[in-house]
Amino acid sequence: MSDVLVIGSANADLVVPADRRPAGGETVLGGDTTVLPGGKGANTAVAAAKLGADVALLGAIGDDAYGRLLTDSLRDAGVRTDLLRTVERPTGIAYITVTPDGENSILVSPGANSVLEPSAVEGVFGGVEVMVVSLEIPLPTVERAVAAAAEAGARTLLNLSPAAELSARTLAALDVLLVNEHEAAWLLGSGVAPAKLLDLGPRSAVVTLGARGALVITEDGTTGIPSPKVEPVDTTGAGDAFTGALAASLAEGVTLEAAARKAVQVAAISVTRQGAQPSYPSDAELERVCA
Ligand code: ATP
Repeated sequence: MSDVLVIGSANADLVVPADRRPAGGETVLGGDTTVLPGGKGANTAVAAAKLGADVALLGAIGDDAYGRLLTDSLRDAGVRTDLLRTVERPTGIAYITVTPDGENSILVSPGANSVLEPSAVEGVFGGVEVMVVSLEIPLPTVERAVAAAAEAGARTLLNLSPAAELSARTLAALDVLLVNEHEAAWLLGSGVAPAKLLDLGPRSAVVTLGARGALVITEDGTTGIPSPKVEPVDTTGAGDAFTGALAASLAEGVTLEAAARKAVQVAAISVTRQGAQPSYPSDAELERVCA
């Protein structure tokens, strides 16, 4: 069994540049389409594996060209794919329009991800140090994954992206609740101190703050982790890079604060390059950059 088990989505990202996004009933001609491996689960697994962690992805793809693209990308990064199911639905696709101001609008067709049933997570946690789950898969599967991982003694890390209403029981079974600023405000209301996230039940929380880095919240207090200053080229998948790096470090047994310090370095490198998975650094590269 792997040290890090990621449970989540795998999507093909179909990225098209356009001067503007079409309004209802309108047709706009864009540039050439780029097809890239993506999905929050697959991205997180690749980020952790590139850093040298022993990682498996539990997810679902279709028996089609996009499914093969994802499998190849995961295997190239060293992610174990024996828990990746091939189902009778098309592989998930994210249709991404990018305008010259760098803004993305994304339509996701979940396809195979939407049939990842709660039963898929039974009996998979033996030997797992850290279980990571994000929310592009059915909510009952997310909730079952957290409960079953906690019962099996694995540390549980949930990236609340995209935001969804979790049961109090699931929140209380989390070792780490990971959110960005918008998700934190959605959970707490804006202007509420992030430390209040612990009142929802998790033992600790991390709030990512984009270019400003991250906050680590434990019962001992809140620590700000500054990000290195970089020139961002493409922030796609930065949150997943952060999540994967955090999980890889936690599986090594370091503190949450030390894990977050490494995660901001990894995510900062990822925003200086195009795409999600191709932008993630290896451990060797990270050491060179941080030396
Ligand atoms: P995304 O949806 O773009 O994947 P997110 O909204 O989930 O990301 P962010 O808080 O925007 O999460 O970014 C995650 C992490 O990526 C940040 O904590 C930071 O470490 C890094 N990051 C993001 N943007 C920048 C930036 N402009 N410069 C340096 N680091 C960045």
